[in-house]
Amino acid sequence: MILVGLTGGIGSGKSTVSALLAAKGATVIDADAITRELQAPGQPVLTAIVDRFGEGVLTDDGELDRPGLASIVFGDDEALRALNAIVHPAVGVEIARRLEAAAGTDGVVVLDVPLLVESGRDDMAALVVVDVEPDVAVERLERDRGMTAEDAWARIARQASRAERLARADIVIDNHGDRAELEARVDEVWREILALPPV
Ligand code: ADP
Repeated sequence: MILVGLTGGIGSGKSTVSALLAAKGATVIDADAITRELQAPGQPVLTAIVDRFGEGVLTDDGELDRPGLASIVFGDDEALRALNAIVHPAVGVEIARRLEAAAGTDGVVVLDVPLLVESGRDDMAALVVVDVEPDVAVERLERDRGMTAEDAWARIARQASRAERLARADIVIDNHGDRAELEARVDEVWREILALPPV
């Protein structure tokens, strides 16, 4: 497989790029999606979360109340560590399982893991960074996702900075232009990816 990482700050266009790459045939391993799957009712991860934080973190339907849980761990380092100790290993195992399934194929695998830069993984052929100025990201998040500017800026402040991400990038996708420009750039990047060494 050709293994590449994909990262970008919130609102950078990472999900859009990820979908464009998937449409070209890449297998996308999306850590956020895996996290949501593993937190579904009946999954051991959700049981462990309820054991630690109580039934109060469930909605009436028995689903995880994400905003409720977020407000419990926000500003409480010990609670956050406990939550991460439940969720991160399980997500890691599932990512490894999916990588294993793709190993030995000649397909492109895109690791879409938000903490890629923070975690300093180094087993990828290239790290692709979707880059946009925070001002533009906030504008798009307000316009398309109904987020308040305040919330968007707070989330950006909790992530790696634009400069930190760019410093680690092998391939940069500049997303300051319109969608057609983004698609054209992804076409170019796809050709670059296909020329990378497989692992
Ligand atoms: P991320 O996954 O990085 O948070 P998204 O891919 O969801 O970002 O993009 C944030 C928002 O901006 C989405 O609503 C998306 O449709 C929109 N968007 C992404 N790229 C562009 C672009 N080049 N022009 C206009 N809107 C864009």
